[in-house]
Amino acid sequence: MNDMASPTAQVRYETPAPHVARIVMARPEAHNAQGLQMTYELNEAFNRAAHDDDIKVVILAAEGRNFSAGHDLSGDGKKTWRDFPIVGTWAGFDASGAEARYGREMEIYLEMCERWRNLSKPTIAAVQGKCIAGGLMLAWVCDLIVCSDDATFKDPVIDFGICGVEFFNHPWELGIRKAKEMLFTADEVTAQEAAQHGMVNRVVPRAELEATVLAMAQKIATKPAFALKATKQAVNHVQDVQGRRNAQMHVFSLHHLLHTHNELVYGMPMDPNGLPETVREKVFARIARAKAEKAAKGE
Ligand code: ZN
Repeated sequence: MNDMASPTAQVRYETPAPHVARIVMARPEAHNAQGLQMTYELNEAFNRAAHDDDIKVVILAAEGRNFSAGHDLSGDGKKTWRDFPIVGTWAGFDASGAEARYGREMEIYLEMCERWRNLSKPTIAAVQGKCIAGGLMLAWVCDLIVCSDDATFKDPVIDFGICGVEFFNHPWELGIRKAKEMLFTADEVTAQEAAQHGMVNRVVPRAELEATVLAMAQKIATKPAFALKATKQAVNHVQDVQGRRNAQMHVFSLHHLLHTHNELVYGMPMDPNGLPETVREKVFARIARAKAEKAAKGE
């Protein structure tokens, strides 16, 4: 039941049971790293589920060993974001400097996640294996999270001179102290720790993940559609009047201050000290060359 398939499709749209849609990230060879193609395919799939009155519950799942390796910073193919329909109101193609990066991250990260988080229907993430950085944002936008007992959650962006991923939900997911530990140390949070701190609803053996999530979705799908939507909005509204959105917007500014700082110091939006050793040496050599060229020109 996949009628979104195309040669470049990285996302499948399935209807595994009445009133249930399942959106599957299907790029297992790249550990479901999320590039532009996947981002806009996910958005299309979420829209489709939202607009179909027959669908009451939406599952977000991932094919393969790992849920998501995070954002695909290397790009996935030759497409640029000019090749995709912009859905927000911030981004433009011709901006430069910090404006370009802010607009781009607002479009493809922050506002995209906010839109998915605010989808009118209940969503359930089924997480297995590794869920890293941008992958957290995909799980966190869902209303419920069920994970396998081998799942781990990690935000390592401090190693790259950044204060957490763009959709900054860590304190809401884990509580203040565990969120700080996760961010300061860049250590993995285990499935058991995630459950203990309220970040996930259930931890199940890997072999039972799909069936558990589907059963949960089917149970929810027996409830009245409008009451489900209103209940979701009620709980989300409670979180928002507690300041979630305000806090996220503040952190997004800090996030971009750090991108710009790294650009000024290293000539790239991330601190290269976080890169693997082999890559790091090449990057520092490139930075030194650029500095020497500038000095030779008397700049
Ligand atoms: Zn960023």
